[in-house]
Amino acid sequence: MASERQIRVGDVLIGGGAPVAVQTMTKTETANVRETLAQIRRVADAGADLVRCAVPRDDDVQALRTIVRESPIPIIADIHFNHTLAIKAIEAGAHCIRINPGNIGGPEKVAQVVEVAKRHDVPIRVGVNSGSLPKHLRDLEYTDPVEALVRAAVETVELMERLDFDQFKVSMKSTSVPNTIASNRRLSERIPYPLHLGVTEAGTKWTGSIKSAVGLGTLLADGVGDTMRISLSTFHAEEEVKVAWEILKALKLREKGPVLIACPTCGRLQFDMDSVVAEVERRLEAYEDPIEVSILGCAVNGIGEARHADFGITGAKDMGMIYSKGEPLKKVATGNLVDELFAEIDRYYAAGKTVVRDEAAAAEAAAWLAEEEDATAMTPERLAALEAEKARAEADAAEPATTPIDEAISPVAGRRFTRA
Ligand code: SF4
Repeated sequence: MASERQIRVGDVLIGGGAPVAVQTMTKTETANVRETLAQIRRVADAGADLVRCAVPRDDDVQALRTIVRESPIPIIADIHFNHTLAIKAIEAGAHCIRINPGNIGGPEKVAQVVEVAKRHDVPIRVGVNSGSLPKHLRDLEYTDPVEALVRAAVETVELMERLDFDQFKVSMKSTSVPNTIASNRRLSERIPYPLHLGVTEAGTKWTGSIKSAVGLGTLLADGVGDTMRISLSTFHAEEEVKVAWEILKALKLREKGPVLIACPTCGRLQFDMDSVVAEVERRLEAYEDPIEVSILGCAVNGIGEARHADFGITGAKDMGMIYSKGEPLKKVATGNLVDELFAEIDRYYAAGKTVVRDEAAAAEAAAWLAEEEDATAMTPERLAALEAEKARAEADAAEPATTPIDEAISPVAGRRFTRA
């Protein structure tokens, strides 16, 4: 269930129906202002709405003042163990702080931090982690780890409410994807506050992306989750942002830049599609608009599943074709496909988002497409035609024979007919 409450981190709204916010975390030493700001600019360019910086030392708090001032996106200070650093981070201008009430030194310390947060109108992310549950929930953790995590989160929420503070979001972190899904589903039914989603220590870019897509994607598809971070073991935080965006785009929760569709290729492929896809993907990064671009390895199925794409290409050995919304646009030498594709896209924008068609070129491309389609391929249209033909044949067979029986060869001759 989507959160009812909404908070604001800098100028970014979280929860209460706001778009799911993408965040990441810098991997630099925060005290290294130059490197940290450079990474923040990279993640902001990649589409991060928010960025979190670790603040384990006083030097980091000092750096935070400059970072907050110069960052293009709101900064969340990430604090563990030391409530004094949390207070200092708020005073240094952090737009939000993240604390784990389970390791910050008890409810009194949390109360002190909340008091300062209230004064500075700074929201807090309260996080509970499967690795640091309170002692009284450890037994439950063995029998029901999901309930243990949820109870820890609910107890934290109750503490915030006792402190008369409602400007917070909640996160529950587990390395287990099923537990992440189950606990967030359960918590979203019990509290109205925004939820931050993440699978902790998800792994490498490859495994971490898959785990996150499964875990966070499942929750987001259910409407659970208001902000998300993909945790990947890479120094390049912008990779986390890209993965988050792909999840949101796949679920059609947010739009950002073009969507690239490419067939998986098979034995019918006749050109170097790998490098074509890579080049198209790279060149599409320069476009902001959420156009859909499709690449088909061959024209065996016609334009088929790419019929809805704004633009697309399909190729053969020497020639290929550019199409738009299922209609051929022009036939092009395979080596020029990518350049011509982008020429068409640019023409479309120059004409105010109108596809510019040259009817003669389109007719030539349509003729090429018809030639390329393999007459033996089982396209959906051909399958439908074959089924219709078979149904007709069966219907004909069921009808009584109209031709006279040749009694000389009929096995029933003399028995079926009585002659005078
Ligand atoms: S479009 Fe062609 S190359 Fe790509 S998977 Fe389909 S049949 Fe194979």
